[in-house]
Amino acid sequence: MSLNSRFNTELAGVLEQLRAERVYKRLNYIDSPQSSHVQMEGRGDVLILSSNNYLGLSDEPSVIDAGHEALDKYGAGTGSVRFICGTFTIHRQLEQALARFVGTESSMSYVSCWNANEGLTATIVEEGDFVISDALNHASIIDSIRLAKAITKCTTAVYRHSDMDDLRAKLAANRGARRKLIWTDGVFSMEGDVARLPEILEIAREHDAVVAMDDSHASGVLGKTGRGTAEHHGVFGEVDIITSTLGKALGGAAGGFTAGSAALSDYLTQRSRPQLFSNALPPTVAGSSLAAVRFIETHPERVTRLHENARYFRSAITEAGFTPLAGDTPIVPIIVGETSLAMQISDMMLDEGIFVTGFGYPVVPHGHARIRCQVSAAHTRADLDVAVKSFQKVGRKVGLLK
Ligand SMILES: *Cc1c(COP(=O)(O)O)cnc(C)c1O
Repeated sequence: MSLNSRFNTELAGVLEQLRAERVYKRLNYIDSPQSSHVQMEGRGDVLILSSNNYLGLSDEPSVIDAGHEALDKYGAGTGSVRFICGTFTIHRQLEQALARFVGTESSMSYVSCWNANEGLTATIVEEGDFVISDALNHASIIDSIRLAKAITKCTTAVYRHSDMDDLRAKLAANRGARRKLIWTDGVFSMEGDVARLPEILEIAREHDAVVAMDDSHASGVLGKTGRGTAEHHGVFGEVDIITSTLGKALGGAAGGFTAGSAALSDYLTQRSRPQLFSNALPPTVAGSSLAAVRFIETHPERVTRLHENARYFRSAITEAGFTPLAGDTPIVPIIVGETSLAMQISDMMLDEGIFVTGFGYPVVPHGHARIRCQVSAAHTRADLDVAVKSFQKVGRKVGLLK
């Protein structure tokens, strides 16, 4: 028995309450690579409609081979942080490839995009600066800004989701700030909508602000060649700072990066605390991610297939009687209302052999719980048809459909 049993009893009490509210998250153990289907412990073959493996690269042979090769060449890990002795040549290759891919001069890798975001804001602002963030930005951006505020005493504000007038007004009200930073997601993960990037860039120009965009759900996903939100909007190369993850379309392992000017990367090397005090990206992951970027650069047809699958699923699920949130991304959320209903639908879909996650409070507001479908290039049309049929069956059972 551990020393403080009251502590553990208190935790157990909270867990009990989550179960009673039917918002308790169960972990599903998977015993195969991420692909269109997986082997799920206790359930066998399951169709996945909830993965960020947008391009199907997490089990792509060239991506796996590159991980093996890096393991053989560099060993298990860096054994250190970047500046002490944890920088391998494969980090430089990866960072150059990522910069080229997202249209910046340079990039820095981190062990996660969470770390990249957390290591950015507090590093580039100080007291007297102003940071403004979209209301639906990812938790890692929110925490990054909270940390920056606590450390530097910078001023912060949140603008209503994609409300350009609100963004403009709040920047105008903080005209006197020394440095102004606008933070946005490229694709908002719960809604599946795309940031109004051209307008954000325009407003940034008007107010002499810096734009930082987290493209985690857009890298490899949006734009004709998968280069993200900027390519999608025809403003490739214009964003000051792009952060993104290597844990979604770009191989799906883990890791993240911050891309921008050479000066920014060097500055992060000198000052960003997760760079200074936490180990570098493992070489296996760097190798796989590099191969994933190269794969996307040489296989634009894989990105095209993702776009076609997303369009197909959206129209099929709409025809089946559901009204998903509108959008141009492979994230197709179906709003169902209460959190417990979302969880129930998710459970019933799993009984049909389809893994699709329900999201409720506090991830999304009360009454806006949803089933978030994510389409992948790995899906066949037959997979998507099966998913739609099962949704119809479950939708009728719970009374969402007639
Ligand atoms: C998934 C995600 C992250 C976290 O990425 P990790 O590399 O897993 O830490 C950060 N930002 C956004 C917008 C995301 O969607």
